[in-house]
Amino acid sequence: MRLLVDGGVDQQASGAMSTPMTVAEGTFHPAISVTLHESIVTWLLTNATFSGRLRQMSTTDLAFVGASVFTGKGAPPRVASVAISGGRIAAVGTEEDVREQVGPKAEVVDARGKLLVPGFIDAHVHPVYAGAVMIQCEMHGLTGVESYVKAVAEYASNNPNAPWIAGGGWSMADFPGGTPTRQVLDAVVPDRPAYFPNRDGHGAWVNSRALELAGITADTPDPADGRIEREADGVTPSGTLHEGAMTLVSDLIPAPTSADYDKAFDVAQAYLFSLGITGWQDAIVGEVNGRPDNHDAYLRAAADDRLRARVVGALWWDRGRGDEQIEQHVERRRTGRAGRYAATSIKIMQDGVAENFTAAMLDPYLDPCGDHSTNSGISFVDPEALNQDVVKLDALGFQVHFHAIGDRAVREALDSIEAARVANGPTANRHHIAHIQVIHPDDVPRFAELDVTGNMQPLWACHEPQMNELTIPFLGEPRWRTQYPFGALQRAGARLAGGSDWSVSSPDVMWGSHVAVNRVSPPLEDEGFPEPFLPEEQIDLATALTAYTQGSAYVNHADETTGTIEVGKLADIALFDRDPFAAPAEEIYRARAIGTWIEGEKVFEASPDA
Ligand SMILES: [Zn+2]
Repeated sequence: MRLLVDGGVDQQASGAMSTPMTVAEGTFHPAISVTLHESIVTWLLTNATFSGRLRQMSTTDLAFVGASVFTGKGAPPRVASVAISGGRIAAVGTEEDVREQVGPKAEVVDARGKLLVPGFIDAHVHPVYAGAVMIQCEMHGLTGVESYVKAVAEYASNNPNAPWIAGGGWSMADFPGGTPTRQVLDAVVPDRPAYFPNRDGHGAWVNSRALELAGITADTPDPADGRIEREADGVTPSGTLHEGAMTLVSDLIPAPTSADYDKAFDVAQAYLFSLGITGWQDAIVGEVNGRPDNHDAYLRAAADDRLRARVVGALWWDRGRGDEQIEQHVERRRTGRAGRYAATSIKIMQDGVAENFTAAMLDPYLDPCGDHSTNSGISFVDPEALNQDVVKLDALGFQVHFHAIGDRAVREALDSIEAARVANGPTANRHHIAHIQVIHPDDVPRFAELDVTGNMQPLWACHEPQMNELTIPFLGEPRWRTQYPFGALQRAGARLAGGSDWSVSSPDVMWGSHVAVNRVSPPLEDEGFPEPFLPEEQIDLATALTAYTQGSAYVNHADETTGTIEVGKLADIALFDRDPFAAPAEEIYRARAIGTWIEGEKVFEASPDA
């Protein structure tokens, strides 16, 4: 999630909301951001009865015949048939075994040459926020001014009663100087205010009506923490607002309503189902920066029987406050359990990101000349306080889900878990550290020693412009080589879980696994980044997919019932159009989900022409 640091007060923003100094909680990669084909969003939005309709398709017995079955237990798939009965996996064996098990009325799926997997579980994702952008004007998957303008025009005409036209995700590279003009937006939205943050969240494109409502004129001075882009006369606002100037407009946009969040949840859940994802850990649950609480969106979805996925919520730790907030979290955990949702984790964001030097490093960043600077980033929670807080949370049975990007933040997170282990002994809380971009080699073995799961976002582990230009030069030799050391963690016996940080980057598990295996991103390969990123840190496909299944199920305390294909487990499964284990590693990303089931109930089916 893109987060803000503003005078030490935690805030969070995405889409329409933004304030000074935007810091991506995870690294934001323009070139590997979410690629949502317009047609998918349209399809999701026009299928309002989607989940209702699918529910009726319900649970007759099922048999998958001749599938490549990936069990989620670390080994490559084997050809087998699988029977589903009563929402559970009833048999794994030969076609005869399976047909016997399900009886003559069962739906039989010819799965020869296809991959059957345990439903994927995204261990770090923000679906409600991502869905909120999806239901607005979504530009992440688009390229070029024309496509943005077309999207805005379509969105405006499809939403004639929306008071604001908002969304976001355009790329600076598509505009001269990275600064689009209000006139281009005015041509398609002349009457209502329009506001679109760019892909990295540090600037926004607005129309004349938005400037007018915000009272931004030629006489308006730049705010202290931002800049109003001006036309050639040097005074007239041109339609791009940078950093703190963005809030002059974004503060006027109404916060999403409960109904917006419900729609956002539905769209996000349906999209994740279409990728074979059947569960996740929401990495920020809470009211942050005045946005409505997504916790309530889950509780409503559970109450209305719209929540089909299994979800653990990570309650947001307000780092502006201390341990006095623990009581509230205990209460929210007690009442925050409904249907397949449970808010049992606590999210502590320990640092920022490397690209703007807010990730907490053991040694200072290099300056642009390659010399040592004096900046080592920011530990958002004082390490002493962190130790005490984590000891208390651990004693109360909370899982702690850390955000740690820099090697100092990773070490501080590990230290706090060590303090908890010393104080409380081993617990079943299953703490995990997400992002783990830079890990000091001395700390790699501590994951296994302290029984801490490494929560990987593999899509980020590749060469791309942000890595090559904004990260490697400032980490320097040899430190940049300690990034995303998934291979080293595996060799050291660490547990691994997989996640996406969507909407920061795509939740497509096959794409993430492709990068985990190849350390190259398919779309970037053709754009001048064919070199594998630290190839010694590659993991094999079975290890990657095990992280997204059994590994993430473990983190969500759902491994006794899900995460593997074994007799007796709940039938949370997905079928893919091909077996990527049987093809060259360069083709892993091509695998597409064609069906997804939760407890044997079909929640997604690819249309035949997809
Ligand atoms: Zn996140």
